[in-house]
Amino acid sequence: MIKQTNSISFTLPMPVIAMSKNKPFTTIPKPHYNLVFEPQTGTCIKVAPNIWRVCAPNKGPYTFTGTNTYLVGERELFIIDPGPDDKKHLKNLLQAIGGRKVLAILLTHTHKDHSGLAKKLKSATGAPLWFGGKHRLSRPKAPGEINLLHGACDWDLVPERTLEDGQSIAIDGVTLEVLATPGHCANHLCFGVKNSDYLFSGDHVMGWNSTLIATPDGSMGDYFTSLDRLGACDGRHYFPGHGAPIPNLGPDKNGLTYASELRTHRMMRNEQILECIKTGATSISDIVNQIYPDVGLKIKMAAAMTVQAHVEYLAEKKMLNIHQGLLGKKSFSLPQQSTIK
Ligand SMILES: [Zn+2]
Repeated sequence: MIKQTNSISFTLPMPVIAMSKNKPFTTIPKPHYNLVFEPQTGTCIKVAPNIWRVCAPNKGPYTFTGTNTYLVGERELFIIDPGPDDKKHLKNLLQAIGGRKVLAILLTHTHKDHSGLAKKLKSATGAPLWFGGKHRLSRPKAPGEINLLHGACDWDLVPERTLEDGQSIAIDGVTLEVLATPGHCANHLCFGVKNSDYLFSGDHVMGWNSTLIATPDGSMGDYFTSLDRLGACDGRHYFPGHGAPIPNLGPDKNGLTYASELRTHRMMRNEQILECIKTGATSISDIVNQIYPDVGLKIKMAAAMTVQAHVEYLAEKKMLNIHQGLLGKKSFSLPQQSTIK
């Protein structure tokens, strides 16, 4: 049985080269990940005018250096992602807030490493919770299907205000534009800072790794659409939920360019999975064993979740067929002349 995780992001090793009958796979080029980040955990760091960051003490293989909580405003504040339910982090946040009025606590999404502290911070500050609606699945569960992320989700949290795509919320001279970015999970939001380069990207786009997409909690198709949607925001300098900012270094080296690099990476993974099926793989474990032959069990399980999300996306696009076998065992085949559109 796969253990449910309480935190979401994770690192997968680079896939190996696999061989097909006609041509070898090329290795998938890695996006330009940035693993150099000194979070100064617990300290309130000014990262831009009217924007501060306090990193929570929950570093780990799935959360990198810990969850980033952001304070936005000056005399009054929005708090973005209170972080995990952790006493020390609550104390550090209250110290950073310093008695100022918190107009609202915003959540990029309701995974517990972002939302676990929300109720306690609300009690301590009196601020309401605003986010993209109660936690929900990206698609209905199939009969007998287990949601492996169930325990990592804040199912009971109810927003006092449900934020919707295209809304603007303002505080103390700062206006945030709400951008619905489902994919990592269904209620994921990004927040663009109006008339500036800044965008809070949550777990949708992070610099240290690509995000986990695990169905039915998340959806690969939604993730692709949401990567494309980032172009609708002025912001090109991203403040992610974990790790270092993704700066705007110019037209070809900014957050949006990095997001499209992530997109290309995932599209290549789609091609790689189709190649695996073409060369005889008929199940998720076949594909995982071909792409990641030498990794430990824990990574293999995470890889299986990602491959499953890709397979569902490819089936939606009619790029592969899913066959339901005995005891719920699925197998795959390619329609004739399958290419990704
Ligand atoms: Zn998350």
